[in-house]
Amino acid sequence: MELHIIDMYSDILNVYGDIGNLQTLKQRCEWRDINTNITRFTKDKDINLDVENTDIILIGGGSDYGQSIVSQHLLNQRNELQEFIDDNGVILTICGSYQMFGNLYLDANKNKIPCLELLDIETISEKDRFISNIVLENNLGLNPETIVGFENHGGRTYHDYDTLGEVKVGFGNNNEDGKEGLVYKNFIGTYLHGPLLPKNPHITDKLISEALKRKYDIDTLKPLDDTIELNAHKKIVNRLLENK
Ligand code: GLN
Repeated sequence: MELHIIDMYSDILNVYGDIGNLQTLKQRCEWRDINTNITRFTKDKDINLDVENTDIILIGGGSDYGQSIVSQHLLNQRNELQEFIDDNGVILTICGSYQMFGNLYLDANKNKIPCLELLDIETISEKDRFISNIVLENNLGLNPETIVGFENHGGRTYHDYDTLGEVKVGFGNNNEDGKEGLVYKNFIGTYLHGPLLPKNPHITDKLISEALKRKYDIDTLKPLDDTIELNAHKKIVNRLLENK
């Protein structure tokens, strides 16, 4: 088995080590003898996404400046991304890239950064930023129930889709409704850096299993010994909940 992963714009959208998401995904596939074929997709290459041969797309977060640099190139991939999402393609977007799949992103100076307009999301940034470690209770039915990460965003995001989780510590989408992230088909948008996947092996495995289901119609994922990962996860979650 092999999964083709597209690492989009990690040369520009990679704040707080979001590239660690790719490394974790690759490692947890390899531990299960699933080959990974990784394509780095940058704005300096004039190529289009090969939707047919793509299993997982990862896009990290960035500053408003980073977002404005990639926005035109990202917009050129709009049709391919739409096709991929509609076809249950697995895609993880963090912070700045999560915002850019929506209809509107106004940065902290109220400048409009062009967005993909693929999902009905609006984000308006303010100068005071939401900076915090963050703990969620996940809405994906995954065990452990918690998701942990770090958030740093000026954007306040509003939408009516399902969310990734309920905020237990931190701010989330907008610090008003107690919700974090967005889940639509196999698209996940979230403000959680961390990076997200090493701190949350259950989310990594969710991405891998959805990709295998889509490509090979396989429903089960070989279990791994996650004692170390889950102990670390629990320790940090408990500490954050205690200090709340
Ligand atoms: N520029 C966006 C904001 O401040 C995203 C930041 C990020 O990706 N960490 O809301």
